[in-house]
Amino acid sequence: MSEARCKVCAHSDREKIDAALATGTTNVAAGERWGMSKDAVRRHRASHLSKALMAVTAQRETGGAVKAIDRAEALYSKAEGLLDAAQLEGKASLSLAAIRELRGIVELLAKLTGELDERPTVQVLNVSTSPEWSQLRGVLLGALGPFPEAHLAVAGALGELEQ
Ligand SMILES: [Zn+2]
Repeated sequence: MSEARCKVCAHSDREKIDAALATGTTNVAAGERWGMSKDAVRRHRASHLSKALMAVTAQRETGGAVKAIDRAEALYSKAEGLLDAAQLEGKASLSLAAIRELRGIVELLAKLTGELDERPTVQVLNVSTSPEWSQLRGVLLGALGPFPEAHLAVAGALGELEQ
């Protein structure tokens, strides 16, 4: 079933449903709560849930870091303005305080932009031979234990990838 025809994907509470499914709500319970058949929920969970959650999570992480950078840059401008004014008026202690603030904001900005750059990227080539991959594979499949269909689907897809 395509996402366009999926009752869960089309539901106005889709994000809430996905969040509930991802945190252990059963197909039956979700179906009853949002007035859908458990089969519709099951199909959605198997085919659409992980993709949707990954997109939402990625968006949230990037969005959060970008917002923090915007705010830090606004703070930087203010502190810079303070420093200029303090220097014009010859107020040494105020200048020093402003410089300390600027230094802290620069460190913060470096950390925030570093977080954006350090986000993991998908490695396709030779990934299956690395120890990190084996570990990730184990963690991933372990986490999918409570969702047998998703577990099977992911294990199958990983098998294909590793061939
Ligand atoms: Zn769906």
